[in-house]
Amino acid sequence: MSSKKAKSGGLHPIETASRDEISALQLKRLKWSVRHTYDNVAPYRTKCKKKGVHPDDLKRLSDLSQFPFMTKSDLRDHYPFGLFAVPRKQILRLHASSGTTGKPIVVGYTMNDLDNWANMVARSIYAAGGRPGDMVHVAYGYGMFTGGLGAHYGAERLGCTVVPMSGGQTEKQVSQIVDFKPDIIMVTPSYSLVVAEAFEKMGIGPNEISLRVGIFGAEPWGDGMRTEIERKLGIDAVDIYGLTEVMGPGVASECIESKDGPVIWEDHFYPEVINPETEEVLPDGEEGELVFTSLTKEAFPVIRYRTRDLTRLLPPTSRAFRRFAKITGRSDDMLIIRGVNVFPSQIEEQILRDPKLSGNYQIVVTRDGHLDNVEVKCELQSGVSGRLSAPEVQSVAKELQHHIKTIIGITTKISVLETGSIPRIEVGKAKRVIDLRPKQS
Ligand code: ADP
Repeated sequence: MSSKKAKSGGLHPIETASRDEISALQLKRLKWSVRHTYDNVAPYRTKCKKKGVHPDDLKRLSDLSQFPFMTKSDLRDHYPFGLFAVPRKQILRLHASSGTTGKPIVVGYTMNDLDNWANMVARSIYAAGGRPGDMVHVAYGYGMFTGGLGAHYGAERLGCTVVPMSGGQTEKQVSQIVDFKPDIIMVTPSYSLVVAEAFEKMGIGPNEISLRVGIFGAEPWGDGMRTEIERKLGIDAVDIYGLTEVMGPGVASECIESKDGPVIWEDHFYPEVINPETEEVLPDGEEGELVFTSLTKEAFPVIRYRTRDLTRLLPPTSRAFRRFAKITGRSDDMLIIRGVNVFPSQIEEQILRDPKLSGNYQIVVTRDGHLDNVEVKCELQSGVSGRLSAPEVQSVAKELQHHIKTIIGITTKISVLETGSIPRIEVGKAKRVIDLRPKQS
């Protein structure tokens, strides 16, 4: 726990409202959101009709359970703008997230959406102890990824001074922190430890670092990591959660005074937890898959969007809204590599672009210090196996590495092996991913 002090401020009245007030607001907004989506998003209307439900059936919050889910593949199938609920000319900004294969999922925001998003991130920074006048160093990536710009506009909205540093260039990050003396850093937890190590190497101790608070998200991290980050940077570390499909960072965020799991900003996002197999809604406290319905989004509303993140809903503590426990895993095979979402099928697609390579491959993920490393092991087709010279094999590897870097955005080590090198699974699914990273504690 940091002893560096914050200045004071106020909360939005809904953050301390009664459950009845929150539910009434949610119901009113939910009716609007379901109707808006039904009226303006043809594929969603078709899904509802198939299930025999209509927006008029929504009389209580619990009636939402009769409505169909939206999944990542629904979103991908309508690439790029097929699920937008407003004309493209009313969209002020686009962002994108990786799809399971090939094309990304593209989302859009109207002026009101951007306004709400900035407010939610501002609220998140406030919950983390940030106040107007603080300086916020944003080291999330800027670009199509929602992290950088999401954090940026939220910090500005709160009245902070933003340093739009973006990711990478660790030495520059550190020297800028030393020179500018920011109060808050927003970055992935794994990269914060790389920054902390750079400080250590320069002989700068936690008490000499100006930072007071770190707001970390985009990847799972546990309380063990929290303790380490807090100790090494001399800060309070809190968790911010979000996903592109639902908005971006700031769907939920942790309060500095309790550090007991992200508080869901329930006035804008209605949460459910379901059993991922049976799809039934589970009572609060039971572990399952988190599902979100947007209550105010205009351009890209989501109704019962299956996040695939596994967790459980927890009762309110520091705010009137419910929280969720640390994400314990996912109900699909998505990997998060240094904050980038990666599906094994995306890597497979790149391997199969080269006719010299077979469909037998393995992805080995390890952690070196605080950073994830990925090795892609693939095999030559039997027709060419044993017939290529070492430089030819090397160029196959180089090309694949380049494709994965430019299309998926991660750096990998590629091992091109002879036919038969990767163990075959006789029964059941091939084991494509070997994740040797230590579990978050
Ligand atoms: P983001 O910009 O927030 O990373 P993406 O759409 O790229 O958004 O990825 C969203 C996914 O990232 C979530 O579904 C979840 O699996 C993971 N994620 C984001 N924030 C957190 C967090 N605080 N803790 C655990 N996982 C997170």
